[in-house]
Amino acid sequence: MKYRVIVIGSGISGLFVALETRHLGPVLVLTKGSIDDCNTKWAQGGIAAAVGALDSFEQHLADTIVAGAGLVDADAARILCEEAPARIADLVQYGVSFDEIEGVVSLGKEAAHGQNRILHAGGDRTGAAIETALSFSTQQAEITVFDYSLATRLLAKDGRVVGVEALDLQSGQREEYFADAVVIATGGAGQLYDYTTNPDIATGDGIALAFEAGAEVSDLEFYQFHPTALRLEGAPPFLISEAVRGEGAVLRNAAGDAFMPRYHKLADLAPRDVVARAIVREMRAASADHVVLDCTGLHGMDVAARFPGIYSYCHGQGIDMRTTPIPVAPAAHYMMGGIRTDTMGRTTVAGLYACGECACTGVHGANRLASNSLMETVVFGKRVAEDLARGETPPAPQTADAIVAPEVLDGAAGDHTTIRSLMWDAVGIERDGTRLRAALERLSATAPETGINDDARTRRDVEERRGMSSLARLMTRAALQREESRGGHYRRDFPETDDLRWKRHQVFRNDA
Ligand SMILES: Cc1cc2nc3c(=O)[nH]c(=O)nc-3n(C[C@H](O)[C@H](O)[C@H](O)COP(=O)(O)OP(=O)(O)OC[C@H]3O[C@@H](n4cnc5c(N)ncnc54)[C@H](O)[C@@H]3O)c2cc1C
Repeated sequence: MKYRVIVIGSGISGLFVALETRHLGPVLVLTKGSIDDCNTKWAQGGIAAAVGALDSFEQHLADTIVAGAGLVDADAARILCEEAPARIADLVQYGVSFDEIEGVVSLGKEAAHGQNRILHAGGDRTGAAIETALSFSTQQAEITVFDYSLATRLLAKDGRVVGVEALDLQSGQREEYFADAVVIATGGAGQLYDYTTNPDIATGDGIALAFEAGAEVSDLEFYQFHPTALRLEGAPPFLISEAVRGEGAVLRNAAGDAFMPRYHKLADLAPRDVVARAIVREMRAASADHVVLDCTGLHGMDVAARFPGIYSYCHGQGIDMRTTPIPVAPAAHYMMGGIRTDTMGRTTVAGLYACGECACTGVHGANRLASNSLMETVVFGKRVAEDLARGETPPAPQTADAIVAPEVLDGAAGDHTTIRSLMWDAVGIERDGTRLRAALERLSATAPETGINDDARTRRDVEERRGMSSLARLMTRAALQREESRGGHYRRDFPETDDLRWKRHQVFRNDA
């Protein structure tokens, strides 16, 4: 059977595109875990849209452009901010119920937003509320979903993507599926790092698959580290949302000093990269592996009701955030770069679209404004669906000065642990040329490990490693070449922003 559209991924972007294209013909969703195994489910703070009485899309746009540190694509960002309120209405139609106070939508504030414009659901369970509503709508719409089905290769004919090869993780069978168009919606790549807020699906597969198929990838050196993830022996780095600082919680160092005013005029609500680096410096000065987030002064707020997910997680770890400061440290969180697309979600390869965290639409530039990412998935997901409805359209044009890179999906860097620790040490919050060069060498030299294909987990590991390895090399190379600091990319050896040489994107393509 030939599908009208194959969507790879079942987070917000994949399910939204599937729902919006279902009237065009049969749609197939392939996803490597269960349907709700994704980053989306974990999103806490909310989704940004200028819907408040004092707000306007122009103000949202201005904040987005400032956060992106000179590299935001103004057209794409304008689309994001202008179309955001209409996409909120779509989500409500699909069953998402945003929090209200006395019948009026409740708007939170996050770092570097000039207005309260973060809609949330279930307090701090926004992502889970969205994922549940979209999964339910997908089932109701009788869209075909193959879970535990890992996309391993894009099938191409005459320069056009025509389908997907996928591995059924339970049976071990490889299958080929064909469609008029394929949409990659595979999410981010936090699992390339030792410490991450991302779940284990976030291995960057779609970016590597698109690159292998000849699509351009861009801005891979820009990675956002969330400043405040729980840092507790034996506990995963659970995210403590910025919204907690938005409500007045304060970061303190080992001496109890509220240090952020020393680093930025916005203090605890400074941009994420500034806060993450400040924390690293405070930890280094005190030889500590964490600082603390102090919520004990949030008088007059029912912290447990406003942040039920965070409260109950911390409580489960023996921390009552109402009375005890939470130990936190930065963790890999969000990939700004990815598969380069135009404003309709088209990649540079015919028949191939990308949407969500795996895509690089240009709206985030060098640094994402908090809560713009969920909105980006639906704004550009809608546009992917609109483009598909128009029928045959040309791919996005190739970049004239793209760097032709030789990286292939060979799994050269070895196991997940090696990749993660190399990336954390060399391509993390603070970078320098010496460590980046050494990491690139090691990522390219390590002999491939051979896995034993005898269970679903090992099958998945072996396949994921190929993509992780090539993506890690591309990210390292991009970070090494950018000899300046900007947004989510900080070089100790080039601490200044160099607009003259570097106010531009690095685009990679594999012409093999
Ligand atoms: C803890 C946390 C908190 C966050 N909080 C916020 C927030 O408050 N506001 C905000 O705007 N953003 C937030 N983000 C970011 C936001 O959640 C993500 O950017 C967004 O959910 C990405 O959606 P997506 O659909 O692109 O990817 P995902 O939701 O990650 O979905 C990717 C899908 O692709 C599937 N997949 C991957 N590879 C393959 C493959 N090879 N074959 C088949 N399937 C595959 C996965 O299984 C998954 O179903 C947060 C992220 C995290 C981790």
